[in-house]
Amino acid sequence: MLVKAFSYRRGDDLAGIGVIWRSQAYDFTLAWEAFKNLEAGGRGPSLQFLQVMIELGYFELETFLEVMEALEKRGLLPEFRLQGKYAIDVPVARPQKILCVGRNYREHAEEWGASVPDEPIVFAKLPSALLPHGGTILVPKGVGSVEHEIELGVVIGKGGVDISPDRAWDHIAGYTVVNDVTARALQLEDFRRGWPWLRSKSFDTFCPVGPYVVPRGCIRGPLDLRLELRVNGQLRQRARTSEMVFDVPTLVSTISRWCTLHPGDLICTGTPAGTGPIRPGDVVEAEIEGIGTLRSYVAARE
Ligand code: MG
Repeated sequence: MLVKAFSYRRGDDLAGIGVIWRSQAYDFTLAWEAFKNLEAGGRGPSLQFLQVMIELGYFELETFLEVMEALEKRGLLPEFRLQGKYAIDVPVARPQKILCVGRNYREHAEEWGASVPDEPIVFAKLPSALLPHGGTILVPKGVGSVEHEIELGVVIGKGGVDISPDRAWDHIAGYTVVNDVTARALQLEDFRRGWPWLRSKSFDTFCPVGPYVVPRGCIRGPLDLRLELRVNGQLRQRARTSEMVFDVPTLVSTISRWCTLHPGDLICTGTPAGTGPIRPGDVVEAEIEGIGTLRSYVAARE
């Protein structure tokens, strides 16, 4: 059974967790409260934010199944349909860190005339760059070419340090879609000067993510999911996650040797070949099989 979780917002003062269950959106925050009252004498935390749900260890496929099936059995599910106007928010609004992997698909390394690295190349993207599904990527003045990079996003569940590759799956909460938007001209200039390329990756809005996080239990490893990115309906990137040079357990394990991974941290696992420019007026759709389609609009930053 596939469930997809998301964060939603209604106006300025109401936030919650939503879930897609049998193709229908439900308010999981309220469904959870009802479930607690029915099954646990009202005991248990309230689950309003995915970040908290992950930190408390409740972000598991089993939790969603247990709640939705219990309510379904009692005929109560229709009460929890998510109706009316709501906006999808970024899944985890304040991850402690966003780490990205460079040149993790052979053909993408080759299109750069670069070799495939012998260990993962990891760099940071600042969390202030996060942009929800349906948001607008703002292209700053004077930075030259800005490009799209579709990537599988791994959301960390259980934190840890020195995680072995065979235990890495246990530390993953789920998977999402990321567009690692890059000010390419600026990045190349920084490469040339031997400077860090942080700025080219971290302008505000340069990290669209979402709309959903699919719990790890829905997708068994090894991962072999189709990724596809379209600009104005035209196909730009297509690959499978099985083509990664370093697979997900290797990435989680390697990074955890350098820094403690925390619940809600986001690892962007690298982009395949076909990266290209995006311009004001464009509509970008990044789709990963079984996870969802992340749509963004592009405009000039005033
Ligand atoms: Mg990238």
